[in-house]
Amino acid sequence: MRNIVLFGPPGAGKGTQSEFLVHHYGLVHLSTGDIFRWNIKDKTELGKLAQSYMDQGKLVPDEVTISMLKAEVERNPDAKGFIFDGFPRTTAQAEALDAFLTQREDSIEAMVALLVPEDELKTRLLARAATSGRADDANPEVVQNRIDIYNAETAPVAEFYKSAGKYKAVSGLGSIEEITERLVSAIDD
Ligand code: AMP
Repeated sequence: MRNIVLFGPPGAGKGTQSEFLVHHYGLVHLSTGDIFRWNIKDKTELGKLAQSYMDQGKLVPDEVTISMLKAEVERNPDAKGFIFDGFPRTTAQAEALDAFLTQREDSIEAMVALLVPEDELKTRLLARAATSGRADDANPEVVQNRIDIYNAETAPVAEFYKSAGKYKAVSGLGSIEEITERLVSAIDD
């Protein structure tokens, strides 16, 4: 299996780049943010719970997120591997993913991080609000909250993969194609 974690702050381009990477490598895309949004649209219990956190730019609790992620992996028994987008976002999630994959005699091949300066993230998210229809992109306070939570809780997850020798980083600035090329060469390296 080929399991890649695509990492980076909100607005770094993880969703856009995932689309290219899943086609390039023939993997299944697992975006926890997308799965939460589908649940909100379908008005499921999980969606109702997630929405209160997402509207404020807070993380959905680990327990809920981890069990949802495991269920999604299990729903794809024929996958050649996964692109994890927006997961893991806490060290507890990274540890749970590691334990879950080990149980399945599987592992993460690499974490690839997209590096984008904070000012650029804010500009991108507020611009994206016009087309994404996402309330959490449109409100500057929520955007700031998401970035602050990323810095406090998510950025340390990189250390988990660095200490396993699995961390790679590329610049997330430039054209979509340029960034895809950087990601592919980092993954194939
Ligand atoms: P995203 O689409 O990745 O920007 O995620 C949108 C929102 O979904 C986040 O701001 C969180 O509220 C929630 N979310 C997505 N992934 C996770 C995760 N791995 N852990 C906790 N909350 C998450």
